[in-house]
Amino acid sequence: MSILTVTLNPAIDISYPLEAFHLNTVNRVAQVGKTAGGKGLNVSRVLKDLGADVLATGFADDILGAEIVENLKSEGIDSRFTKISGKTRNCIAILHEGQQTEILEKGPRILREEAEGFIDNFKAMLAKVEAIAISGSLPDGLQETFYSDLIAIANKQEKTVVLDCSGSALEAVLKNPHNPSVIKPNLEELTDLLGKEVTLENIKESLQDRLFDGIEWIVVSLGKEGAFAKVSDEFYRVKIPKIDVVNPVGSGDATVAGLVYGISQNETVENTLKGANVCGMLNAQEAKTGHINRTNYQALFDQLKVEKI
Ligand code: ATP
Repeated sequence: MSILTVTLNPAIDISYPLEAFHLNTVNRVAQVGKTAGGKGLNVSRVLKDLGADVLATGFADDILGAEIVENLKSEGIDSRFTKISGKTRNCIAILHEGQQTEILEKGPRILREEAEGFIDNFKAMLAKVEAIAISGSLPDGLQETFYSDLIAIANKQEKTVVLDCSGSALEAVLKNPHNPSVIKPNLEELTDLLGKEVTLENIKESLQDRLFDGIEWIVVSLGKEGAFAKVSDEFYRVKIPKIDVVNPVGSGDATVAGLVYGISQNETVENTLKGANVCGMLNAQEAKTGHINRTNYQALFDQLKVEKI
């Protein structure tokens, strides 16, 4: 059995390392890095690193989208994207003087027939997977209820859904009766959602807001401070040791991979929370976004503490 990852707005992530970035003139780049990007694809890679069987899906065109499919294939990740007539996007990160300037294309508009085609593909793929990770924003053209529709279909087949999105896409899901099994907001996303500042002091009461009724796992990632979670009616604090960090971008996606992996392996709540944090930490220790080296997995795992609050 495998895990399905959903990335509706994937990208070719381009990085341009420059010694200095000059505005209003030509900047030449010798070393260009290009990878398949998008939060769900980071989740896919980390799942693969964990040894899971992964199937990646979303929307892709036949140029950059085809490149993404090839890139995933070269990493041993199967995919089944729905073809679109719009153009799959590029996202550019200019790395200069220790800073990062990003130019992120919005991405293509999805047509109604394409959205319907995706739903048909999704239904067909569900039979082959036991859990689903849905990540990132909704592309233009899709209804706000699109994620809720996917969750409703998955719930009908009793598949676990881990949802990692923010803003209006998350709000639309939370206002809908079809609940994902897991959400993974950070404090900033919770603050946006609840319209009041959420801190470690008021997190317990914040997670009891009626908006979250029916969601079994709420895992709030706290960067270098670890995580706080509500699972059923219990609260947990995950404490992590200080580590040397190389690049923490994508650590939240690695955490999602750890959560969906742990739950699909029927791990205990404590071990799932620990494993998810270890994935986030291992991602932060790698230069490549959405990648972990499992060599240090157990050593880190043994240093984590999960306390019931
Ligand atoms: P992103 O959007 O960049 O993926 P996020 O806000 O969703 O990030 P974070 O809370 O930053 O997610 O990170 C997820 C997990 O990764 C944390 O709960 C923690 O376990 C680990 N992590 C992230 N940053 C660090 C760090 N600087 N040191 C140690 N662990 C980290």
